[in-house]
Amino acid sequence: MAELAELGELVIPMSAPSLLILQPTPYCNLNCSYCYLPHRDLRSVMSEDVLRAIARYILAPMPKAQRPAVIWHAGEPMTVPPKWYHNAFELLRRESGGTPLNHGFQTNGVGVTDHWLKLWQDWNVQIGVSLDGPAEFHNRRRKTRRGTGSHALTMKGVETLKSAGYPFHIISVLTTDILPHPELLIEFYADNDLHDVAFNIEEIEGQTETSSFENDDTAVSRYRQFLKRFYELSDRLPVPINVRELQNVQSLAANMRKNGMRNTQNTPLAIVTIAVDGGMSTFSPELIGVTDHARDNFIFANVCDGGVERILLSPAFQQLKREVEEGKRACARSCGYFDVCGGGAPANKYFEHGRFDGTETLYCQLTIQANVDVALDFMEQRSGRVPEQPREMELR
Ligand code: SF4
Repeated sequence: MAELAELGELVIPMSAPSLLILQPTPYCNLNCSYCYLPHRDLRSVMSEDVLRAIARYILAPMPKAQRPAVIWHAGEPMTVPPKWYHNAFELLRRESGGTPLNHGFQTNGVGVTDHWLKLWQDWNVQIGVSLDGPAEFHNRRRKTRRGTGSHALTMKGVETLKSAGYPFHIISVLTTDILPHPELLIEFYADNDLHDVAFNIEEIEGQTETSSFENDDTAVSRYRQFLKRFYELSDRLPVPINVRELQNVQSLAANMRKNGMRNTQNTPLAIVTIAVDGGMSTFSPELIGVTDHARDNFIFANVCDGGVERILLSPAFQQLKREVEEGKRACARSCGYFDVCGGGAPANKYFEHGRFDGTETLYCQLTIQANVDVALDFMEQRSGRVPEQPREMELR
């Protein structure tokens, strides 16, 4: 693959993509109230032709050391059987020149069996389980298709993973319901031996047109208090909880001067999302499946016709790129967090403002600004702290 793709005004580094998000199926066996995927009733499954095209047109031309991580998501990946993945992983490996890829699943954890464990062990698949804490919080929004809570089903999957000693992390979607109760969340993770977690905020995106965080003047400050208290309580546990948001800021503080900031969501082709039928999108993965005819529904090419560089030929992509760049420049002019943010998530600007050239969103107030401030304060507080004896868990 050429070092640079040049196309009129577009000059784009072609070490991209660093992340491929593949949609094995749009279908999901749950029906969570905050889900952004509009086609989650459809049961179509990615064909061998699409898989072969991904291998030949995207993976094979890339140097092996630069091949992207692959996340299977954007529908529930475990609604397609393990045997399908054995075949798909093997096909991708074979057709792209023989090197196994780094695969990951983002899953609701419903229905983990020995067959799944064998697949994940055989291919060293990274697993993220969506679990929103204790049942009383998780079940309010993470529902089965019958409308009942899904907590017990997900916990069964979690227990199966733990019994097998298979590593995984948790992603918890936070709503304002949990903000007064950081101790309940800590207690839940600690009691269940869950020590790697990430927080996602209930967002306005795709089909989800509201969030408990909007129209609430106190939500951002309450989220900051929640995070601060969570980190303090976690730090007192015999085994503290690794929180992605804190680790990200620590790693940024350590590496930013050396490596600079790269925002993959507003860098063309850094993330490429491929829909079940081979349709390719870029920028924020949440744009996939969104209906916006003026923007070709954010599908800019099909992988069966060629590699990611075909995206660059799309007039809809070129227009979107201009708007995203304008939003990035506006962020650089106006926001003190730009050096650690890089100009935000295009999807959240679009879902909140209806355009891509805007700046601040509720999403970035929470996931960038609050996360950075609270993490830096906490790191400073911790570095100057005299160790307490004994370090007991302080709850409630
Ligand atoms: S924090 Fe928000 S306003 Fe600031 S650079 Fe990021 S997206 Fe733009």
